[in-house]
Amino acid sequence: MHCPFCGAVDTKVIDSRLVAEGNNVRRRRECITCEDRFTTYESAELVMPRIIKQDGIREPFNEEKLQAGLAKALEKRPVSIENLEEAINRIKAHLRATGEREIPSRVLGEQVMKELRELDEVAFVRFASVYRSFKDLDEFRQEIDRLSKDNPK
Ligand SMILES: [Zn+2]
Repeated sequence: MHCPFCGAVDTKVIDSRLVAEGNNVRRRRECITCEDRFTTYESAELVMPRIIKQDGIREPFNEEKLQAGLAKALEKRPVSIENLEEAINRIKAHLRATGEREIPSRVLGEQVMKELRELDEVAFVRFASVYRSFKDLDEFRQEIDRLSKDNPK
């Protein structure tokens, strides 16, 4: 994004928020060279950040893949398609609202877990057991403990 005042190439995002029902992102930017500030409006399709995988490879955000992963965790669970779609929209809105061009896959994974925890605890545990890496095992156990305390059978 070039600075409209001096034409400098480097500008930084100082604020980023969703407008028009989450379909656009309004960004305040500051030019690194002349320090003037300006506002840009970008449509959602253009601003989905790329995903940085654990091995450092960047890939485009893939909504179908996200939906497939969630649907798999929610298999045979009492959760409607509408609720699933709303969760996906919230995840996307969150990623866009970061204002980042690239985000670690971990950030996406944490958002998915947050949504699944709200939707269905069985699906959350299914997803978490696949998603969590070995080093997070203690944290995962604590989460399971917390869930079973919240819902004594
Ligand atoms: Zn400038």
